[in-house]
Amino acid sequence: MAKYPVDLIHLIAFLKKLPGVGTKTAERFAFQLLNWQEAELHTFASLLSHLKEKITHCTECHCLTDSGQCAFCHSPARDKSQLCIIANPRDAYSIDETGAYRGLYHVLGGLLSPIDGKTPEHLNLEHLKKRITSLQAKEIIIALDSTLEGDTTSLFLKEQIQNWGLPVSRLAFGIPIGSSLDFVDGGTLARALTGRQTF
Ligand SMILES: [Zn+2]
Repeated sequence: MAKYPVDLIHLIAFLKKLPGVGTKTAERFAFQLLNWQEAELHTFASLLSHLKEKITHCTECHCLTDSGQCAFCHSPARDKSQLCIIANPRDAYSIDETGAYRGLYHVLGGLLSPIDGKTPEHLNLEHLKKRITSLQAKEIIIALDSTLEGDTTSLFLKEQIQNWGLPVSRLAFGIPIGSSLDFVDGGTLARALTGRQTF
């Protein structure tokens, strides 16, 4: 790295922790920050220093919130008979932006991964079961990643939820919109075929 002042080097190192930010981009961001007004930098710094205390997890579903209950759990307009199980709070926003789902969410906070010591105890199934019962949910939708950990967790949850006597569905996996079959990998194509629908 260039012979920057020590604090600038530290700033660049922090910026590089952000996803998709390499050294060049981090340097560009750091120099941009140096051009900001003092007041703007203070506001930014204060936002960062209070981030963890201001933004917490909903006591019900573990989505993000700045008060006890999140916007999803708090809203009377949500369909409480549907519960969508997701791995991270961010997934709730992605799903919600589609406008295709108006039920509630349940954040697992992780996926099963025996290698990393993530066992079923980490999924807090008791809390999930209590929520399903108290909401009187009629349908559970599993929306986890299509990875080894995601698939393992989905299968495990499916068995558990079916044991509780509830219908459970999972997101369909298919061909990305706008892509040609030539460019779709074999695994995705096989999944799309398995999950085919009549039309
Ligand atoms: Zn909530």
